[in-house]
Amino acid sequence: MTEAPLIDPFQRAINYLRVSVTDRCDFRCVYCMSENMTFLPKKELLTLEELDRMCSTFIDLGVEKLRITGGEPLVRRDIMTFFNAMARHLERGALKELTVTTNGSQLARFAGDLHAAGMRRINVSLDTLDEAKFAEVTRWGRLPQVLRGIDAAQQAGLRVKINVVAIKGFNEDELFSLAEWCAARDMDLTFIEVMPMGDIGNENRLGQYWPLKDLRARLAERYTLTDLAERTGGPARYVRLEETGQKIGFITPLTHNFCESCNRVRLTCTGALYMCLGQEDMADLRAPLRSFPETDAPLKEAIRAAISLKPKGHDFDYSRQRPDGQMSRHMSHTGG
Ligand code: SAM
Ligand code: SF4
Repeated sequence: MTEAPLIDPFQRAINYLRVSVTDRCDFRCVYCMSENMTFLPKKELLTLEELDRMCSTFIDLGVEKLRITGGEPLVRRDIMTFFNAMARHLERGALKELTVTTNGSQLARFAGDLHAAGMRRINVSLDTLDEAKFAEVTRWGRLPQVLRGIDAAQQAGLRVKINVVAIKGFNEDELFSLAEWCAARDMDLTFIEVMPMGDIGNENRLGQYWPLKDLRARLAERYTLTDLAERTGGPARYVRLEETGQKIGFITPLTHNFCESCNRVRLTCTGALYMCLGQEDMADLRAPLRSFPETDAPLKEAIRAAISLKPKGHDFDYSRQRPDGQMSRHMSHTGG
């Protein structure tokens, strides 16, 4: 039987699912987590089998792109079991892309296996190329380990995109060196504005906010920027640097609203479906999943009901000099 596709009330086709497979992480990035995070009890998490069933059901309903995130997805125990299970959907053509967003710490270990499971592109988050600054921003991370991971990923044949959170006074001075480093290694680069997600302890969110229009203006002092029409259905907008031919993305939830073309929903590691990263509304999909082990019909019904409630957009706004639209949950919960 062919299922009707998932279409939200604003006629957006939902074919992209991001899944957070764990809320845990081996880093404590200052914009993402507080130093002393309390993590969910294990029994709250979907098991790997439940994650498989959940994702397979979304694929049945027309999801073609799956991005696995977290927390740090590669620290979840036996995570390759899940990736290997998803490979079957790639092989039969129902899933067009399986990808991951990672901090890179475990890539040296997993890159070859990820490629073997059918993955072709990954995103690695890296905000600085300076070892001391890396330790400062991630609190627990070590740069050489991540760089080894990126090497391994490229050697395994994975296309790497680097995601950089633009942080005022922190990596402003590395704008050109990061761009040049990515160009030299043939890696795409995307800058992300700091979003108001979750309590991060004593860190000052407004102090971290470096608007990408300022970053872009800085870039234009050295390079000729050409806007690209290319949209991936996602929030990024792209420019080409004419001098290097390099493509650079900007994710600007705060200075730019990208909701009109939103094609995605997000599943947390506990089975909550968030229809919008910037809204509190969610649907519990774990209950229909666990209550009906024999049939996916109630789960499908719950997914359709949730999609019919997808809001038009988010309400993030720093323009009144305070982080309006602040979300109580952490990015690592919903999955960035
Ligand atoms: N641990 C993986 C990683 O760091 O790539 C995946 C999860 S992480 C939550 C996903 C992305 O969200 C990362 O690129 C991270 O930099 C970004 N992120 C986390 N907190 C953020 C915030 N408050 N504002 C903007 N981006 C954030
Ligand atoms: Fe961990 Fe990623 Fe959050 Fe950093 S951004 S603390 S690596 S989940």
